[in-house]
Amino acid sequence: MRGLMMDKPLLISSILEYAARYHGATEIVSLTVEGPIHRYDYAGAQSRAKKLARALAALGIGEGDRVGTLAWNGFRHYELYFGVSSMGAVCHMINPRLFSAQISYIVEHAGDSLIFADTTFVPLLEEIGPSARVVVMTDEDRMPKTSLPGVHCYETLLASQNDDYEWPLLDENAASSMCYSSGTTGNPKGVLFSHRSTVLHAWGATMPDMLGLGARDTVMPVVPMFHVNAWGLPYAATMVGAKLVLPGAKADGESLHRLIEGERVTLSGGVPTVWLGFLDYLERTGKTVETLERCVIGGSATPRAMSAEFGEKHGVRVLHAWGMTEMSPLGTVNAAKNGMDDETAERRYDRLAKQGRPCFGVDMKIVDDDGRTLPWDGKAFGEVKVRGLWVCSDYYGGEGDSHDDEGWFSTGDVATIDADGYLTVTDRSKDVIKSGGEWISSIDLENIAVGHPGVFEAAVVGVRHPKWDERPLLLVVRNEGSEVTAEELLSNYEGKVARWWVPDDVVFVDELPHTATGKLLKRELRKRYADYELPS
Ligand code: AMP
Repeated sequence: MRGLMMDKPLLISSILEYAARYHGATEIVSLTVEGPIHRYDYAGAQSRAKKLARALAALGIGEGDRVGTLAWNGFRHYELYFGVSSMGAVCHMINPRLFSAQISYIVEHAGDSLIFADTTFVPLLEEIGPSARVVVMTDEDRMPKTSLPGVHCYETLLASQNDDYEWPLLDENAASSMCYSSGTTGNPKGVLFSHRSTVLHAWGATMPDMLGLGARDTVMPVVPMFHVNAWGLPYAATMVGAKLVLPGAKADGESLHRLIEGERVTLSGGVPTVWLGFLDYLERTGKTVETLERCVIGGSATPRAMSAEFGEKHGVRVLHAWGMTEMSPLGTVNAAKNGMDDETAERRYDRLAKQGRPCFGVDMKIVDDDGRTLPWDGKAFGEVKVRGLWVCSDYYGGEGDSHDDEGWFSTGDVATIDADGYLTVTDRSKDVIKSGGEWISSIDLENIAVGHPGVFEAAVVGVRHPKWDERPLLLVVRNEGSEVTAEELLSNYEGKVARWWVPDDVVFVDELPHTATGKLLKRELRKRYADYELPS
């Protein structure tokens, strides 16, 4: 017997419809590439997203067509998130920080027929020379001179349309957006999100033990909108009618602080590197944050010291999150369980160094090299496999071989899971250091190093060793003015890890290389230090 309940597809358009209807006057604030702050509200955003949908149709874009974006976090990008997907096309967010050859590959591979670009990225497009037509996301007065053929102006396109438009009733499993994942080996692979997965992911993100979002929040995604849907924050904030603050191209401490204080941001999110700079700014200026309650940190491991500094000095609760492009991206968030409320601050920050536990909708397990399931004892290491409502089932073009017969997706991350179901990521499988046949966690060693007050950033890589195969080498960027020595850093490991885990040497560097998504570029570091001579 079938249930007698309405069958309404889960569509991205319905998220914006809801916000425009019930939170129509709630603000969306953007720091624009052109300079001034732009303000409007959900009702205004829906009206312009509808004009955009009409403009897209007038340009010949139809269901399933891929529309690229090369843009910062701003209101026009927000309109593309909703307008492109809701009219039936696929919004393809391109990461401009990739090498231009990779961007060329991605644009061609996705088959983008139109690309929307902030003025900042016009030179990049001139270099690439894509076959797609280009729309520059600005007004007529600010249109840059360009050698690109047949370029359109975003505001002119919108001005020629009205908002008399009904969002089409699409299949909820239709593709809505795509991002390329560069975490895997070889060429970047396309992850194709659907309306259904996007709505469920946003819904999951709002849950109390995930990001716990509500209409009284002001949400500022610092994580770029070109990186896995800005972790779904634009959708999730809209779904609950929270005020949204989009910080444009600015991720430096001073700009973020000004926006957080000025707009009374309650929740923000970004990778650890961003918050390193932010905390450093607060420390140097003696400032703090009044309204910020929670900070979602993920993309790389959140050092324990970072959660402690946010918590103890600024009263900000860190939400350590783990996930990946292939997971839309939210997999786990570290929230306490019943009975953990009375844990000491020390224990709380120990727990927060873990990546957390999934919410309903995501399932995970760890397996050994033969695919056998490992126990959840907080000790056994294995590769993390996942499946769930917003996990990819394949890559665009069928290029993946990361799924097993039972549908589990291999994440390439190595982790332990404890008895409470909290995941602790110890490494990417290719970054694991194998010494004498045993694994050493580079993330644990980095965490301890950055816990030292003299350290700004640290990376640990395996270096060839004649006897042990590999040994860890610690690379450190000192804090300004710090004269911390190698001996001090090595003795800092005493009592915190097994003695054979302690790095064999320390190298001080001016900076560390990062990937296009802000992760430590371990591949490059391994290459650079492959022949490093460790002290005997
Ligand atoms: P991306 O697809 O660019 O989001 O990268 C996903 C990868 O980033 C994951 O597979 C992990 O290796 C890494 N990652 C994401 N969040 C965390 C975290 N909280 N701790 C450690 N690694 C993380």
